[in-house]
Order: sequence, then C-alpha cells, then structure tokens
Amino acid sequence: MIYLDHAAATPVDKRVLEAMMPYFADDFFNPSAAYLPAKKVASDYETAKATIAHAIGAKASDLVITAGATEANNLAFTSLNPLSRVLYLITEHDSVRRVAERLGGEAVSVLPNGLIDLDDLKRKITDETELISVALVNNELGTIQPLAEVAQIIREVKIDRMKRGIRRQLLLHSDASQALNLLDVSVARLGVDLMTLNSAKVYGPKGVGALYVSHDAKLSPLTVGGGQENGLRSGTENVPGVIGFAKAVELAHEHLNGNRKKYASWRKTLLSELDGYELINKKHAVDNFVTICYDGIDAERLVFLLEEQGVYVATGAACAASKGVRSHVLAAIGLSESQITGSLRLTLGETNDEAQIHETARVINRVVEAEKARIQRIES
Ligand code: PLP
Repeated sequence: MIYLDHAAATPVDKRVLEAMMPYFADDFFNPSAAYLPAKKVASDYETAKATIAHAIGAKASDLVITAGATEANNLAFTSLNPLSRVLYLITEHDSVRRVAERLGGEAVSVLPNGLIDLDDLKRKITDETELISVALVNNELGTIQPLAEVAQIIREVKIDRMKRGIRRQLLLHSDASQALNLLDVSVARLGVDLMTLNSAKVYGPKGVGALYVSHDAKLSPLTVGGGQENGLRSGTENVPGVIGFAKAVELAHEHLNGNRKKYASWRKTLLSELDGYELINKKHAVDNFVTICYDGIDAERLVFLLEEQGVYVATGAACAASKGVRSHVLAAIGLSESQITGSLRLTLGETNDEAQIHETARVINRVVEAEKARIQRIES
C-alpha cells in the first residue's frame, strides 16, 4: 500500500504511542483528584501542554485543549459579541466555514494562486468586524497564507478605530491544523490572537486539538461543567491524548527542516515523472501537498482505480469527498467544472519513501493512460 493522503489522517507515531501508554491503565488518575498520584498526572498534563504551547511560542495557560480542531475552531468564534461581524477566507475548512456562515459571516476571496486577496479583505472590514479567520495552511492545496500581512492590516484598522473612538475588538484567528508538520509556527510572529492546532495531522492521536487564546480574546465555553481548562472546556482531561499530542509536536519540531527538504525533493521527483497533468498548487504551498489535474478525466474514478493498484489518494478534503460535494476550494481559485472533476490531491508523509514516489508516478501514469483510452473508445 502506498498512502498519499496524510492531510486526511496521519498514523500515530510509535514513539507517540509509547509515550501515551502509561496514562491509560497505570497513571489513569483524574488530574483534579487530591491524592499524590493524581497530582503527578496533573503535573505531567501541564508539562505536555507547555510542550505544545512552546512549539508556537506560547505558555501552557494560553491553550485550551479540545477534542480536535473542529471544536477548537467552533470555540474561537465564541469570541464574537452580539451585532458584530465576522470575515473568513472562502477556502476555509468546513469547521470554520459552517460556523462563520451560521453567524452571518462574509467570505473573503482568494486569488487564482490560492492566496488571500488582501484588497478584498480591506474592502470588507467594517467598523462592526470583530473576527477574521484565515487558515495558515489550506487543507486542499497546502497554500500558506501571509498571516503576518493580514495581521498588519488588522493593526492599521485598530489604530484607525482608536483615533475615531471605536472600541470594538478585532481579532485574527487561524486554523493551523495542517501547519505544524512543516512550518515553524510562532503566534507572535504571525500576529494571531486565536490559533487552532490539531494532533491528528502531526502523527498524534485523533480527537485531540488545542486553541491558542491570547490575552486580548475573551471566549465563552461551548459546554459547561467541572470548569477544566480555565472554565472554557469542562470535562475530565484527555491525559493520554495530550501526552501523545505533546510528543508528536516535539517530534515534528525536531524534524521540521529535514522533512521539508525530503518532501520538496519527493514532490519534484513526482512532478517530473508524472505525465500529462496540470499542476494546480504551483506556488506558495507546503512541500508535501501535490494537487494535480487531469482535465477531462473523472478523478473520483481515478481514486477508485488507484486504490485497486494499492495507491491511496484523495480528490479533496476527506469530509467533502465522503459526501460527494464539489470542492469549494478549487472553485474559489477559479478552476472550471471539468478541472475540478479531474483534480487529485496527493499529500506526502512519513509512511512514504523514495521508492514509493517512483512507483506512484508509474502507477498513476498507467492508470491515467488506460482511463484516457477507455474514454476514447466510448467517444468513438
Ligand atoms: N481544519 C483543517 C484545516 C483540517 O484539515 C481538519 C481536518 O481535516 C479540521 C480542521 C478538522 O479536524 P478534526 O476532524 O480533527 O476536528
């Protein structure tokens, strides 16, 4: 099997699993309990949170641990006051898009290269805007958004508002679910107030995530109860999950540069050995995302045919693909219907090696050729 869908899910790294194991059956205590073994678990949990926070230049107390990125994204939007407005990038993951839409949010366009249209952003910010949500790395194209530039625009708006005596907050949220593997993420450098992290995309356990919350952002809990996570996310802490997430983040950080080089080289190899495709994410993408299009061919069929050959790829976001929904991301960058229908997303990762990359190119070339021949037979 050659797995090329690491943007959908990454396997838990063996070292992560090892770090988690003691916290299931041995150190199982509730961190809120008063006895000594529980206090040790509480302390290990805080240390793990500090490790995750450290990777983005923050403190443990700045993080709210959640059950994944979807929940963290939803929590970020509780920072809004009534009668305020929210802006979100049109290519956001559904866990941002759906919440923003429900709150009457307005979408900001992207340019054909997938980058945020900063002029459109400037035009759409009004005195009522309180939150702007822009993912650091897009989950279909891998596009890295210029968050520091967005933060600069926000700073200018804030200064202007101050001069005019408008006291409304203006926060920047970023879903960095796909970013921790390959980018050195610093909340201060990026200028974000809220940032979503996702363990499941960095070889950590699924169902674990975090929201970074700056001092300027005031959130409301989505659920109430025992008051854990500073009252923002009640419920007994997922200790093994957070220990695993911390280990995964640590490993990702250690191998950041090596991985970037490795994926860049594999990407280049793949693109040189594949035939007759159009590269969609030409620039500004993280190195492990390869989005290619075979115009006139049904990529859904390709996914199926490639699976038969042991190659696992995607047409877009896994959640959209399972519902048979057309990619809103590819539509937003201006691809035609037939280009969207013919697009494949290959996301490289730690389960791959150089030999698999060559084999992938061979298999895809063969399957695409056969598919073209089949279409020709039908048409003639
Ligand atoms: N945000 C992005 C950019 C993602 O890629 C994903 C997962 O596919 C999510 C959010 C949702 O993550 P989860 O399903 O772990 O809540």
